[in-house]
Amino acid sequence: MQPNLIDIPLAFYPFESSKPFSECMVCGINLSLDTVDYFIEKAIKNNIEYQIEDVVFEYAICSSCAQNMQQSISKQSMENMQAFFANHHQFMSKIQAHQQGQGEPLEELLSKCSLHNEPIIAMSEYMMFGHFRGDKMISTTMPYILGGKAMDELSEIMSNETIDEMNRFKNEYFGGPMELEDLWKGKPVFL
Ligand SMILES: [Zn+2]
Repeated sequence: MQPNLIDIPLAFYPFESSKPFSECMVCGINLSLDTVDYFIEKAIKNNIEYQIEDVVFEYAICSSCAQNMQQSISKQSMENMQAFFANHHQFMSKIQAHQQGQGEPLEELLSKCSLHNEPIIAMSEYMMFGHFRGDKMISTTMPYILGGKAMDELSEIMSNETIDEMNRFKNEYFGGPMELEDLWKGKPVFL
């Protein structure tokens, strides 16, 4: 077992499933092989009053498909996005600490917006991202959560062509139910 692999937190399992994601949504490659790196993204809607969570969408994507998708993000959007995160110094130092094994415990990390620290139980929507290999999570890549406020800020810096591209992706794989419209906006797919 490689030292940088840890158990996948249940929050990153498919909704109501007892097994991790097993294939890339785009190319269908088998993700349970320990040789394939992949990412998981989930969009959650949370009923604050009753604390009932609903998955709006969720998927796993292998690293080569993710790379292809990244190339469809305009250079301008990519630069804006990098600058956006670089300017959130707290976020950057969180990532650094995490890489050095000195970050917050996972449970803590996954309980609030990684940019604004709003607890997830107080947010009506948020997104989760993580990096995995086989049936493990890669511990040196910090999983993160973006709440509605962070998503809004990000969508403002995306170019129209990038937003179009993300909408195309959304329609192709999720059929674009209306519920998604608010949440998706123009978020970065992967950093
Ligand atoms: Zn793939």
